[in-house]
Amino acid sequence: MITLQKNISLQAHNSFGIEANAKLFVEVKSEDDLKEVYTSAQFEHERKMVIGSGSNILFTQDFDGLIVKNQIGGIELINEDADEVLIRAGSGVHWHEFVLHCIDHGWGGIENLSLIPGTVGAAPVQNIGAYGVELKDVLHSVRAWDLGLNEFVELSRDQCEFGYRSSIFKHQRKGQLVISSVVFRLSKKPVLQRSYGAINEALKAMGIASASIRDISNAVISIRSSKLPDPVQLGNAGSFFKNPVVSKERMEAICSLDAHLVSFPFGEAFKLSAGWLIEAAGWKGHREGNVGCYEKQSLVLVNFGRATGKEILAFSHNIQASVWEKYGVELEPEVNLL
Ligand SMILES: Cc1cc2nc3c(=O)[nH]c(=O)nc-3n(C[C@H](O)[C@H](O)[C@H](O)COP(=O)(O)OP(=O)(O)OC[C@H]3O[C@@H](n4cnc5c(N)ncnc54)[C@H](O)[C@@H]3O)c2cc1C
Repeated sequence: MITLQKNISLQAHNSFGIEANAKLFVEVKSEDDLKEVYTSAQFEHERKMVIGSGSNILFTQDFDGLIVKNQIGGIELINEDADEVLIRAGSGVHWHEFVLHCIDHGWGGIENLSLIPGTVGAAPVQNIGAYGVELKDVLHSVRAWDLGLNEFVELSRDQCEFGYRSSIFKHQRKGQLVISSVVFRLSKKPVLQRSYGAINEALKAMGIASASIRDISNAVISIRSSKLPDPVQLGNAGSFFKNPVVSKERMEAICSLDAHLVSFPFGEAFKLSAGWLIEAAGWKGHREGNVGCYEKQSLVLVNFGRATGKEILAFSHNIQASVWEKYGVELEPEVNLL
């Protein structure tokens, strides 16, 4: 049973804290609710958009349609053997709560993704990643309402077409698949992912020599809390831009301009640190009115309180222009612009 609301403020529904209104707004708590929304003649001609916690969205205007706020809950163990578990989580479950649930049960694989804001259902959309782990490493399958077929479908991991911060849900079939639950394959004998030096440093500072998945999670929480702004205090959507991927020649050309360039091999190509490029272009800690580039992490744009989505977008365009001018590199937004 769904309850329709009209002319609703979205300020509490996006981590940037942007004031924007939705013409129509509905919360869904089950697959039946979801089906009702997407098959109802009442909403047939309305533009629709599903949101979780709104931690990867920049509203630059009011939404002239129906916002579907996803609150589908439930965590269910669906299979288990001596080595691993298959576990299904409702798409409205909070991501970090799900991570902690798995750690409590000793299931490893997502501890490096601790404290990422948002919901389970949005995690496959941009194939969330942090500290050497991506969602695709542990995802088994996704269940979604298919707007083309008008029925629920199951997608295997391969069918999700995951890439760096991308998937079929963000690109090829954007807006056409509404995720209702996700199945994860987690390990009872986890191999810890400690390739990021910062994790080892944090463990050392915590006095831990032989780490468990909970220790890794605590180390990640401590690193993230020290360098990322809490959206409750300072509106933001995490990394605003993706790390650009360029050819070896391009990377070497930039290195000849500045030997300190931070880059990582990425297949045949190279991934450049967008944070480094933005900082080197002079933006770190820079503020214009209500918008700024976060002082501890230049990849994060922040709302100092009363910024509009349009102001944040204009600020991001200026950053893109100056990085392009200085290094000839195009920065692509990671955040969904609306
Ligand atoms: C402080 C901070 C740190 C962050 N750190 C990271 C990080 O380390 N790594 C990382 O990858 N991301 C990070 N993010 C970005 C964000 O947390 C993730 O992208 C998260 O998965 C978004 O979840 P959400 O529920 O808030 O999605 P929303 O912002 O509500 O939605 C994001 C997109 O997904 C779509 N969507 C949402 N739910 C569904 C669904 N059920 N079915 C289909 N489409 C859906 C929406 O339509 C929208 O296009 C960070 C954000 C913040 C604020």
